[in-house]
Amino acid sequence: MSEIEFLVIGGVALIAVIGLLVGFVSRGRRSETLEAPPVELEERTPESGMAVPEAPPRTAAPAAPAEAPDAPAPAPEVVEPAVVEPVEEITLAERFRKRLTRTRNRLGSSVADLFGRGVTDEAWEGLEEALIGADVGVEASLAIVEEVRRRAKDEGVTEVGGVVRLLKEELERTLAVGDRSLARASDGEPTVWLVTGVNGTGKTTSIGKIAAHEKSIGHQVVLAAADTFRAAAIDQLKLWAERSDVRLVAKEPGADPASVAYDGYMAAKATDADLYIVDTAGRLHNKSELMDELGKVKRVLSKQAGELEETLLVLDATTGQNGIAQARAFLDAVDVTGIILTKLDGTAKGGVVIAIQRELGLPVKLVGLGEGIDDLAEFDPHAFVEAIFADLAVA
Ligand code: GDP
Repeated sequence: MSEIEFLVIGGVALIAVIGLLVGFVSRGRRSETLEAPPVELEERTPESGMAVPEAPPRTAAPAAPAEAPDAPAPAPEVVEPAVVEPVEEITLAERFRKRLTRTRNRLGSSVADLFGRGVTDEAWEGLEEALIGADVGVEASLAIVEEVRRRAKDEGVTEVGGVVRLLKEELERTLAVGDRSLARASDGEPTVWLVTGVNGTGKTTSIGKIAAHEKSIGHQVVLAAADTFRAAAIDQLKLWAERSDVRLVAKEPGADPASVAYDGYMAAKATDADLYIVDTAGRLHNKSELMDELGKVKRVLSKQAGELEETLLVLDATTGQNGIAQARAFLDAVDVTGIILTKLDGTAKGGVVIAIQRELGLPVKLVGLGEGIDDLAEFDPHAFVEAIFADLAVA
């Protein structure tokens, strides 16, 4: 009897233990699922793409606080550097210094290294190479080194600090060409700036930044989406107009760009706008189409507004010499009055400013120093050169 009792009790205990174990394991599985909800993973994924924000993050940016207050929303970080770093609080020189770290790390540092070992023939040759490597252009690099070397000899310069001082002066002198000011209408009519450039160079972003700045200083601005080739271009400009709180004139994709430009001008005139900015073709099937279209837009506008105050070509600093080649197609189509050079923050080859001015014979008037709404600045050769050689122990 006691043996049977023992077996029955043992069996019951075994079943109970197995039951407990099964329950525990399955609870464990449920809690694993809860700890890693798929939603959370999905929301985190876009964050890794923040470094290369394209149009979509900007699309989400203004709406994010209202529509999804709880979402981690990576986009606002892209569009709100103005809040973190108000422009009024830092000088132009500081803005250049902060954003030109890549060119400084490449060009400024290599000059310090080269001459830190003595003012030798090898160092001068190295300087030529460093300038060419920074996209200054071969001719300009040779001319700059020749002049700095001549002055160093004349002035008996024998240490790196003196060379850097002479180089800074020569670079600044080379950069100081043309009239960099942005022309304004003097007859009380709206100022008209036509903006053109290859897609992806930062044309829309630059127009948006200009609009925001002009608005912030109390100017009435009207934008026209006359790049009707791509629907996305119109949408993007619309977003920037919303962000900058300025008026936009747009039509459906494929509409005649000249008619959009005309309507925009009429709207600017009717509303007594100070500044009217026209976003024009970024890409067409071929060069003659580009010329036809730009020429037509300009003719139609000139008929109403007289000579346009500015025709600005947007170039991407990161494309270097290719950008210069692209630029020539636009120069054949319209009389460009100045360059907006974007993405200077994104290149170690900031010397391209010199090549552009020299090879195209046009002044760089504005430079893009980042993706934020405040990251556009007047090009200042002194601030630029100082930024390249800032923080060098020798300078
Ligand atoms: P568009 O096609 O010429 O109108 O070019 P977008 O204005 O859409 O700009 C293309 C990309 O370049 C976007 O991701 C912009 O945020 C970025 N971009 C524009 N200007 C600058 C700049 O000055 N610096 C940096 N780092 N990115 C820029």
